[in-house]
Amino acid sequence: MARVYKSRYYPQNSLFDATVGCNPSFIWRGLMEVKDTICLGCRRCIGDGRGTIIGTDPWLVNVENPFVTTDLHESISNATVSSLLSENGSGWDAECVRDIFNERDANVILNIPVPPKVKIFCWQLVSSVLPTRDALLSKHVPCNLYCHMCEQVLETATHLFVDCPVAAAVWTRMGLPPVSNQGGNYHPLVE
Ligand SMILES: [Zn+2]
Repeated sequence: MARVYKSRYYPQNSLFDATVGCNPSFIWRGLMEVKDTICLGCRRCIGDGRGTIIGTDPWLVNVENPFVTTDLHESISNATVSSLLSENGSGWDAECVRDIFNERDANVILNIPVPPKVKIFCWQLVSSVLPTRDALLSKHVPCNLYCHMCEQVLETATHLFVDCPVAAAVWTRMGLPPVSNQGGNYHPLVE
């Protein structure tokens, strides 16, 4: 049911951006009437911020109003939250945030903890969503399929982190025991 509504009423957007539109069904009209209440009760999990829009998503951790209240230029309003992160991935670009937003928004934003890049990467690894070359192949993306480090075999996540001789040499150099992928946990890397 949710998919049907999405394809009919907000195919390009999220529920937060949906409107009643023309010729709505009875249920959809009812849903739209309670949408504002739903939105106020929802908080978007920003993750790495690439799927969250600064000006229209309810991403601020604030009970009264999770939306940005600053009057933003369109180009900033439509940008993703990830553009507010520092380039080295260590957290918010505080100077930029204070420059762009009013005091209330800036304070709320800077208090939102940002998961370090390495945590996001580990999560992607154990969730099998890293864009390794075998994954790109399954999505019909044309690319060289060999491991970009040893250039010998098909690049899979397990090869990159466990079987590749280059990776093994790196772990040894770092003093880590051999990495295994039993149970998909890439012990001891992720743990
Ligand atoms: Zn390799």
